[in-house]
Order: sequence, then structure tokens, then C-alpha cells
Amino acid sequence: MIPFLDLKTIHCELQAEIVAAWQRILEDGAFVGGPEVEGFEREFAAYVGARHCVGVSNGTDALLFALLALGLRPGDQVITASHTFIGTSEPIGHAGGKPVFVDVDAATGTLDPALVEAAITPRTRFLLPVHLYGQPADMGPLLDIARRHDLKLVEDACQAHGAEYRGRRAGSLGHAAGFSFYPGKNLGACGEGGAVTTDDAAVAARVRQLRDHGQVRKYHHEIEGYNGRLDALQAAALRIKLRHLDGWNEQRRRAAATYAELLVGSPFELPTEAPGRKHVYHLYVVRHPERERVQAALTAAGIGTGLHYPVPLHLQPPYRSSSLPLGSLPRSEHWASAGLSLPMYPNIDQGQQARVAEALRRAVA
Ligand SMILES: *Cc1c(COP(=O)(O)O)cnc(C)c1O
Repeated sequence: MIPFLDLKTIHCELQAEIVAAWQRILEDGAFVGGPEVEGFEREFAAYVGARHCVGVSNGTDALLFALLALGLRPGDQVITASHTFIGTSEPIGHAGGKPVFVDVDAATGTLDPALVEAAITPRTRFLLPVHLYGQPADMGPLLDIARRHDLKLVEDACQAHGAEYRGRRAGSLGHAAGFSFYPGKNLGACGEGGAVTTDDAAVAARVRQLRDHGQVRKYHHEIEGYNGRLDALQAAALRIKLRHLDGWNEQRRRAAATYAELLVGSPFELPTEAPGRKHVYHLYVVRHPERERVQAALTAAGIGTGLHYPVPLHLQPPYRSSSLPLGSLPRSEHWASAGLSLPMYPNIDQGQQARVAEALRRAVA
């Protein structure tokens, strides 16, 4: 068996260290907030290259709090990708905004800047590009558009811990960014977690308020907020794992290079790294018109795969009324219908990858 994702190996290696940190928290009783959360926020801000990091409950809330802190008001339009996880668009709706889906670039699957400008209306207030599968969206042109039209740009960096655009890390590029620490992400907690990063002190302060019931001090609530905090057990595990993130990302990049060598000349469309970008391969997604058949063959061979994501958001029930019928975002629809995610994790070995490649070639022979 070759799993799609292997979380066990990493946690076995770090178990003693994580358990020792949790033991200290059990003895202190500081479960929510406290020194572990503050320590992680400092360290992750420094890692990303942003002035501020605010730990929150998950990636979806991170995006919600970033949008609200940057002033999203009911009725505002937010231009975003359809080819992504619904955690990108839910916060827009929860904040009272309206997602406006634009097609993605054929090669990277990230928001196509050439299509963004035509989607701008007088109600547009935000761009929300997704650094999909671990590769930053084309931030240079997107930031230009945001400047020209006076829009705020929030990065969905939930899949892009450590990814870079022109030498700067994801999470330091827009007005604010949302990260997820869901266990399977490149930096994952042992449960749920997320963070907002920003250079703007006022935005960071607002996110701190939003995550904690709108409190300015205990039981003094300036606004209606949320219960959206990061807990200390997760923060402690994240601090330990953060020290390994660069090494794990390098292992992912090597594994991606190995897949590319093994699959050269095959009928699969392979992931590419766009110029000036550092892809950290949260997912390794190949494309083939008969991916269901290929997936079934791999399953039969004991190889785990995934579909990320089989139905683009503009065709999902909550958004179907959005005047974007089937066929309206052809590249998003192609990614959704042809993409197949191969096993990808830092410690995947070359023998496993050779067996995956062999099974793929046999499936389409
Ligand atoms: C994981 C993810 C989210 C949501 O993060 P959660 O921590 O699961 O709430 C949002 N957007 C993208 C692209 C993601 O991959």
C-alpha cells in the first residue's frame, strides 16, 4: 500500500518533543492564549516575513477575519477563483460579501490576472487569489490591479506555507493572508488551527479582537466578534513542526522532481513551476481526460489518490445562481474534471514513486 498522505511518520519522529511540550501546558493550565500561542505568532511572522501574525481557529476563520479586518461590508464583491476548496469562498459569504469567480491560468491553476480586470465593477472591494497546491498566484500583476482600482488583496495561503513569489514568502505579499494548519497541510497542527499574517498593525489588532469575542479587555466588547482562537496545545506542536518546514518542503520539491522525471513523455499533464515562483507542492496534481479510470486502476494497485477539487465552486449549489453555467469557466472546469492528486508527503521514497509512475503508465497503456 502507498498512502495518499502519510502523517504518521512525521508525528512518530516528533512525538517525544510534542508530548513534552503538552506536558508542560497540562501542568501550567494555560490552554487558550498564553506564551505558546504568542511564541508561535512571533516565530511564524518571522518565518513568513510579515510584521504580524495572529493565531486563529482555522484557515476559513483566518480568511473571514482578514476580510472583516480590512473592512469588507455587506454587498461587497470579492474576485476569487472557482477552482479551489470552498474554505476560500465561505468566508466571503459569511461576511456578507459576494464571491465573483474568475477563471484560472491553464498552466498553474491560479487566478488569471488577465481576466480579473474585466470582472471589476463599482462594488468590487477585494481580490482573493489562492496559492493553489503550494504555488503562489501571479502576485505582481494582481497587486498592480489592486493598486490601480483601490482594492484590498487577501492571499489564501492555506496551501502555501513557505512558498515564494520573486523571493518573498506567501503571506507577506498582500494586505493580509490566511493560513490553515489543518493536519494535512505543509505545516499542520494536531487538530485545527490557522493564522492571519499582515504588515498592518491596525489589521492585526482588529483580527485579535475578532477572534476573541470583540474584546478590547476582559468582558469589554467593542464589537460582536467570534470564538476563533488558536489553542496552546496546537501552538506548541506548530512551533516544533515549524522548525522542520523548510526541510519538508525541500523533500516535497525533490519528490515532485522525481515524479516529473518518471512521467516525462507520458500522456499526463504535469504540474509546472512558473518563473519567479517557488512551489512547495502541498499537492502534486496531474491531469488526464480519463482520470476516473486512472484513479480506479491506482486504487486497485493499492495506491491512494485524491481529487482536488472535483466540482468547481461556480457549479456548487450555494453559488449556482451566480450566472456562471457549465462551460463559463473552461480552465477551472478542466482542472476540476481532469485533475488527479498523487501520493505526496515529505518522506515518500523513490521506490514508492516509481511504483506510482508504473501504475499510471499501465493505466493508460
Ligand atoms: C484548507 C484550506 C482552507 C480552509 O482551511 P481550514 O483550516 O480547513 O478551515 C481554505 N482554502 C484553501 C485553499 C485550503 O486548502
